[in-house]
Amino acid sequence: MMKRIRCNGSGEEILVGKIFCLGKNYAAHAKEMESEVPEEPVVFLKPSTAIIRDGDEIKIPRMSHEVHHEVELVVAIGKEGKNIRASDSAGYVLGYAIGLDMTMRDVQNEAKKQGHPWTVAKGFDTSAPVSDIIPAAKINNPRDLTISCKVNGVIRQKSSTRNMIFSIDTIIEYISSIFTLERGDLIFTGTPEGVSRIVAGDTIEAELVGYTTISHRVVQA
Ligand code: MG
Repeated sequence: MMKRIRCNGSGEEILVGKIFCLGKNYAAHAKEMESEVPEEPVVFLKPSTAIIRDGDEIKIPRMSHEVHHEVELVVAIGKEGKNIRASDSAGYVLGYAIGLDMTMRDVQNEAKKQGHPWTVAKGFDTSAPVSDIIPAAKINNPRDLTISCKVNGVIRQKSSTRNMIFSIDTIIEYISSIFTLERGDLIFTGTPEGVSRIVAGDTIEAELVGYTTISHRVVQA
């Protein structure tokens, strides 16, 4: 069944299209990964089947012994566009959500070493927990939103979107220069520092502070 997420306020259910994700969009996270800060956005895709919603279980694939949480601001696209200028990008944003880019770090590290794609490490079932969409009109300033992630009640990640290397406007301009954006596409805008391993039995909470929270139990697949 195609994945849908709900838009707060209207209650409309939006069909999820393409899921774009940014790699290395916070300098402190690039540093903890022992990576350079990129000169252009690093973009990868997850399939829409990776989506789960608040309360659903995160399932750790058997092939991995090191699954990490990456809390990220998610931008939901509201209308079709190609070659969108940064200055026009706000008109294409339906709203914002909190999400987790769940990552098999051991599988990703091996893929990096081999020069292979990240699809398996990043796109497995349940790898994209996401909240309902908060309409853009209800968000004060997307350039300064606090995002955080707790595991078993303990804060592991907390940062502001002001620490992004590439702004939301720049990301939309860049992605839409290559891919047609459509209503229901999601953009995971990258994670700040503090990523860490989770295991079966853990509970992860991700928060867009002041707006919405999602909570997920972790189980073995
Ligand atoms: Mg990420």
